[in-house]
Amino acid sequence: MAKAVNQYRADLREIRFRLYEQFHLDELLGQPPFEEWDVEAVDMIIDEVYQFACDKIGPTNRVGDEVGCRLVDGKVITPPGFKEAWDALYEAGYRNVSAPEEHGGAGAPFSVGIATEEFLAGANVAFAMYPGLTVGAAELIAAFGTPEQVGRYVHNMFSGKWAGTMCLTEPHAGSDVGAATTKAIKQPDGTYKIEGTKIFISAGDHDLTENIIHMVLARTEGAPPGTKGLSLFIVPRDKLTGGSNDVTVGGIEHKMGINGSATCVLNFGENGNCVGELVGTEECRGMSQMFRMMNFARIGVGVQGMAVASAAYLAALDYAKERKQGPHVSKWKDPTAPKVPIIQHPDVRRMLIDMKARVEGIRALILKLCAHTDRERLLAGKDDEQAAYHKGQVDLLVPIVKAYSSDQAFRVCETAIQVFGGAGYLRDHPVEQYLRDSKIFSIYEGTNHIQAMDLVGRKLPQRGGAN
Ligand SMILES: Cc1cc2nc3c(=O)[nH]c(=O)nc-3n(C[C@H](O)[C@H](O)[C@H](O)COP(=O)(O)OP(=O)(O)OC[C@H]3O[C@@H](n4cnc5c(N)ncnc54)[C@H](O)[C@@H]3O)c2cc1C
Repeated sequence: MAKAVNQYRADLREIRFRLYEQFHLDELLGQPPFEEWDVEAVDMIIDEVYQFACDKIGPTNRVGDEVGCRLVDGKVITPPGFKEAWDALYEAGYRNVSAPEEHGGAGAPFSVGIATEEFLAGANVAFAMYPGLTVGAAELIAAFGTPEQVGRYVHNMFSGKWAGTMCLTEPHAGSDVGAATTKAIKQPDGTYKIEGTKIFISAGDHDLTENIIHMVLARTEGAPPGTKGLSLFIVPRDKLTGGSNDVTVGGIEHKMGINGSATCVLNFGENGNCVGELVGTEECRGMSQMFRMMNFARIGVGVQGMAVASAAYLAALDYAKERKQGPHVSKWKDPTAPKVPIIQHPDVRRMLIDMKARVEGIRALILKLCAHTDRERLLAGKDDEQAAYHKGQVDLLVPIVKAYSSDQAFRVCETAIQVFGGAGYLRDHPVEQYLRDSKIFSIYEGTNHIQAMDLVGRKLPQRGGAN
C-alpha cells in the first residue's frame, strides 16, 4: 500500500491575485452580510485551510485511490484515513466557511468558501465529495423544507453528524432524468413509501457518519410523465427513531478514478418498508427544487476541475525544475555541454505555460461566478435591479463553469503527464491519478452536452435575453 504522504500543493499567490486584484473582494468585506470579515480574516482562513488540506487530507489521496471502497456485508467501508479526515474537517469547521451562521457556518463570502474548497478538492477529490454532497443536501432542505424538516435535518448535516446524497439517476434515466420510474406512494400519515432503484449514487453508503440522508427524486401516483411529475423526498438510510429504513446497497462500481468515492446502486423499499418525507408541502416540485442542489454541485464540479488541474500543473512545474535531461537548445549538438533542467527546453516551457493559462482561465471564470454571487447577496433588498443582474450572471455562468473547467482539467492533466515523460505514466507520481480522477468531471452532474443545452435552451433566453 502507498505511503500516506501529501503530494498536494496550491498556489496561494494566484488565488489572492484573483480574489483581490481581479475581482476586488476587499470592496465587499466589512459590509453586511460580510461585516465580520476583513482582508486579514480572509487571508488567515485561506492559509489555515490550505495547511489543513496538506496535513490531514492530502495523505489520504494515494491510499484512497489504491485501496478504494469495499462492500462488506452490505455496507461500504471507505479507505484508510477517510474517517479521521472527516472528523478533523468537521472539528475544524473548514467545510462550512461560507455556510450561513444560523446553521453553524462562518458566513464568509462565497468567493472565500470556494477558494478554500479548492484545497479540499485538490488534496483528495474523491474524499471531498462526501462533505460536498452533504452541504448540498443540507442547503436543499434549508431552502425548501418545512420548518420541522429544517429542524430535524439541517443542523445534523452541517455539523457532519449525518451525510447527504443526491439520487436522480436510474438504469434507464441518466441524462433524461424525466424518465425516472422510482415510485412514491402516499400513506395515510402523510409520509410516502419509496420503491425503486437508483444507480451511480456518489457517497450512497459509507462509514463516515451515523446516518445518510438521501435526497430522492420519485414519481407520486397519477403524476404527469417527464420532469414535471417528479417530487423530491428526504429518505434517511436509517430511521431517525432507529433501525433500517429499507435502503440497501445493491453494489458498488469499480471505476477508472475517484476510487475513494463510493459509487453505489441503491435499492429503496425492496421489502416495502422504505419511508420518505416530501420536501416542503407540494408534490411535483421536485425537479425545480433539485436544481438548487444541482447548480451547487455543478459549481462544485467546476471547483474539482480547477483544483485537480492546478495540482497537476504545479506537480509538473516542480518536476520540470528538477529533472535534468540534455543540454540547452543553444548547445544541443555538443555532447560535452552541461545537462539542464527540462524547464529550460522551449517545448517544455510551452506545455507549462499552456497549462498555467488554462488553470488560471478556469480559476478566473469560477471566481467571477463567485464575485457575482457575493454582489447579489450584498445588493439584495438595496438595489434589486443590480442584484437581478448579478443573479443572471450566476445563472449564465453555472453551465459554462462546469463544462469549461471539466474539459480543460482533463487536458491539463494529460499535458502534465507529457511534461513528466515516462515517469508521469508511473504510479510514483500523482499526475496519472489526476488524469484518471478528472475524466468523470465532464460526465457527471449532467454531461457537458447537457450543460450546452442548459446554456442555450434555458440560460440565454432567461430575462428576455438580458443575462
Ligand atoms: C462516478 C459517477 C458518479 C455519479 N454520481 C451520481 C450521483 O451522485 N447522483 C446521481 O443521480 N447520478 C450520479 N451519476 C450519474 C451521472 O450523472 C450520469 O452518468 C450522467 O448524467 C450521464 O447519464 P448516463 O450515464 O446515463 O449517460 P447517457 O444519458 O446515456 O448519455 C450517453 C451519451 O449521450 C449523450 N446524450 C444523452 N442525451 C442526449 C441528448 N438529449 N442530446 C445529446 N446528447 C445526449 C450524453 O451527453 C453522453 O455523451 C454518477 C455517475 C458516475 C459515473
